Amino acid sequence: MENCLFCKIAAGIIPSTKVYEDDLILAFRDIAPMAPTHILVIPKTHIPSVDGITAENSAVVAHIFATIPAIAREEGLVNGYRVVSNCGSDAGQTVQHLHFHILGGKQLTLEMA
Ligand code: 5GP
Ligand code: ZN
Repeated sequence: MENCLFCKIAAGIIPSTKVYEDDLILAFRDIAPMAPTHILVIPKTHIPSVDGITAENSAVVAHIFATIPAIAREEGLVNGYRVVSNCGSDAGQTVQHLHFHILGGKQLTLEMA
């Protein structure tokens, strides 16, 4: 996808602080962390949001979730962590490329609404 920030990060055109990478996914540190540990995990393929997940492309989402525990362990998040994906404007999604936030390293508050 042209002009997609996270496609450019996935392609290495825009630099990021990588935490994990394989053929399918990339994890990197959020540029504006909201917790001591704030990592974004993205598929390298362009999926706009959770709304764009289908039976055809969901294998990469399963792969992301199979990898998140290892990333959390590597980051030392032994007391737990939160995984969040904002979908659409009501949720405050600002980058239109599917991403999962991993937040941890402090006691997180519940700000649901
Ligand atoms: P959203 O608001 O869509 O759920 O999350 C987008 C996230 O991407 C935000 O937490 C924001 O700080 C992060 N972000 C935006 N631009 C960049 C960037 O260029 N590099 C990195 N590493 N994170 C970014
Ligand atoms: Zn993209």
